[in-house]
Amino acid sequence: MKNILKNIVALIILGVAIFVFRGSIEKGYFMLQDQYFPCSRTISYSVGTIDPSFGISKENFLSDIEEAENVWEASIDKKLFTYETEGGELTINLLYDNRQATTEQLKSLNNTLNSDRSFYNDLKNQIDILKADPNPDVNKINSLIGELNQAAVSFNSQAKEYNAAGGSLGNEFEEGLYSSDQSGKRIDIYQFENKDKLVRVLMHELGHALSLDHVNNPKAIMYQTNNGDNLTLTADDINELKAHCGIK
Ligand SMILES: [Zn+2]
Repeated sequence: MKNILKNIVALIILGVAIFVFRGSIEKGYFMLQDQYFPCSRTISYSVGTIDPSFGISKENFLSDIEEAENVWEASIDKKLFTYETEGGELTINLLYDNRQATTEQLKSLNNTLNSDRSFYNDLKNQIDILKADPNPDVNKINSLIGELNQAAVSFNSQAKEYNAAGGSLGNEFEEGLYSSDQSGKRIDIYQFENKDKLVRVLMHELGHALSLDHVNNPKAIMYQTNNGDNLTLTADDINELKAHCGIK
């Protein structure tokens, strides 16, 4: 009778321990599975923070993530990620800081520069046409030349502002970051110029979430910087994934 009681107590303790440590047990199990049977399970992800300063809705962000996800999955015809409304093991965040603020400033300065440039060129054309006249209107030409000089001054000051803003970004332009630590797996996206660049940086960070390393082809999605415009994987990217998943 004593023995039975002992066994029951031991079973209860074991049950409580499994319940208390179920999170760690699951994590440990996933780690072993990832190590010995890579790509045999899907990685679940949820959307965490979307800073409203980006002006992007959750639906649009999700569809960009799905687009990035599908490219990897189609390349080996295998489901690699699953979306979960909340509690996924991978959290994807859109975090706003000076990187995106500067990107937007550069975009608007670039627009001003382009319109200044076309204003300057229009003036120059008008002057050339007037000058070509056999009886040129000298007063009109001089007044246009005055305007032209002012346009040049404004263009130069805009260009200086543009360079200063660009310089403040420095060399390290980290658009996104994948991290895995005690608190879990995370993808933090900080900067993108347009939708395509966002999908590209998502593809890159999802690649890291699949344990892929950088490859040495500037056109590759897994290249260290977001250089290209292609939304397709290069052969180097696919080979990296196949090698990791043990697919020939
Ligand atoms: Zn990277």
